[in-house]
Amino acid sequence: MQGLIMDYPLTLQHLLERSRKLYGRKEIVSWMPTGLHRYTYAGFYQRVGRLASVLKRLGVQKGDRVGTLAWNHYRHLELYFAVTCSGAVLHTVNIRLFPEQIAYIINHAGDRILCFDESLTPLLEGIRGELKTVQHYIALGEETTPPATSLHPVHSYEALLAGASPHYDWPHLDEHDAAGMCYTSGTTGHPKGVVYSHRAIFLHSLAETGVDSIGLSEQDTIMIVVPMFHANAWCLPFTATLAGSKQVFPGTHMQPRELAHLIQSERVTVTAGVPTLWIGLQQVLEQESYDLSSLHTILSGGSAVPRSLIETYERRWNIRIIQGWGMTEMTPLGTLSRLKSYMESWPEEERFAVRAKQGTMVAGVELKAVDEEGRDIPWDGKSQGELLVRGPWIASAYYRDPHSAERFHQGWLRTGDVVTIDPEGYIQIVDRTKDLIKSGGEWISSVDLENAIMAHPKVLEAAVIAVPHPKWQERPLACVVPRPEYRGEITGEEILAFLRDKFARWWLPDEVVFLTEIPKTGVGKFDKKVLRQQYERHIRPGSER
Ligand code: ADP
Repeated sequence: MQGLIMDYPLTLQHLLERSRKLYGRKEIVSWMPTGLHRYTYAGFYQRVGRLASVLKRLGVQKGDRVGTLAWNHYRHLELYFAVTCSGAVLHTVNIRLFPEQIAYIINHAGDRILCFDESLTPLLEGIRGELKTVQHYIALGEETTPPATSLHPVHSYEALLAGASPHYDWPHLDEHDAAGMCYTSGTTGHPKGVVYSHRAIFLHSLAETGVDSIGLSEQDTIMIVVPMFHANAWCLPFTATLAGSKQVFPGTHMQPRELAHLIQSERVTVTAGVPTLWIGLQQVLEQESYDLSSLHTILSGGSAVPRSLIETYERRWNIRIIQGWGMTEMTPLGTLSRLKSYMESWPEEERFAVRAKQGTMVAGVELKAVDEEGRDIPWDGKSQGELLVRGPWIASAYYRDPHSAERFHQGWLRTGDVVTIDPEGYIQIVDRTKDLIKSGGEWISSVDLENAIMAHPKVLEAAVIAVPHPKWQERPLACVVPRPEYRGEITGEEILAFLRDKFARWWLPDEVVFLTEIPKTGVGKFDKKVLRQQYERHIRPGSER
């Protein structure tokens, strides 16, 4: 039809140019091994231009993959934009995977250039012989001489930038061009690659600025703790650049005290990361005094956020925890749990109950849940089904993977998460299909039990897993980490007594074991796979339902 709206490409170049034109004075702060590094978006833009010139000189062409093995800092942010805006593909490698998995994904993605933090040199040296496609290694350190290493050829990032022009003619890109890729952690089989288009990241970032979504704004100072090597750090580095927020990166300084210090000194207003981080921070805040009055919002997700955590932060420090749910396959945001206007006047108990759910779909995302026959389940808050999603930032296949079809079905992504959806549209994750406990033909939600146990005042962390049982197939086992002051002073019976009036008798764990720490995955989630292996033979035949 004539007179139609322009076909304007939704590429990341728009975000970069916008930040240059509008936010040249705003700061980007990183905690580096040498101390705090600060510069402005104006300085950032210059260096992004230099980096793009470097990539061109090294022969990087449109669509080529540039891998990064790095923590959260300004050099990584420069890579986020220079690689994508010059037409190459940013492949963020999860540094916490096993070395053989890291070698597998670098080869599978076909990375031509690999940029790495110097602290990770030994890791790369260990797999150097297996890497088939890498033509250049770039060390992301302060020095202008390359580090002494067996990696070859190796360059110093700073030396390359110093010798390159800041003026770079950004090429014309199509919004459907690939911008980034990331691999899922691959709980079964090999990790699977997800490729993000410019359009997907653009729309996702725009959605994160919406006031009923994250609402990130120019007024905010965001501390990005969620790793830049996992699911685009929830796209927050892109969104913050689009919005012109001050960005704060902790580098390797991820200890609760260091985070508290950074929030206080940089006057952080928003931060984001997995729940285990905020459980750790809570402990520090209870014992020591920091001025966190600037912080209004913590975004948390990646695994279920305990309701008790949301309550504690709100009541004690007036900090709002907003729970989000998403997946690597979804760029990654799917839902956020915010109250609707008329819920604000509900009794406190009900308000917390809503906020402890994973939330409603972010504008742009569509979702539904289906039963085992593939029929839609009603949105009644009770029926359970597997969650299916679709939308402009949701993957339609895995990168070069013959088994893709199992997860992508008639235009929907099968998430592998079992949920209920209430009449208000709030989803609640009952479990990941593989974490559900099947006892005597019925399901027990490990997430519900964990949530309840973590509300016990003597408990710091809890993970509930299925252990094999001769009669009931599987039974729940609770792995509990007491708060340090209660170590050795809390009994399994105390935990079970606490659960008795909250669950049916057959849901109660057969046993409670006390640990000093729950094993965590590379991105800080409870690693139930490791626990399951540990307790595989932990059968108590006498146990009753
Ligand atoms: P990984 O497989 O490494 O955990 P992802 O980060 O892609 O990789 O994990 C996505 C999964 O994490 C989801 O399918 C879901 O099971 C879980 N998840 C994410 N956010 C939440 C949340 N708020 N509550 C419960 N589970 C969550």
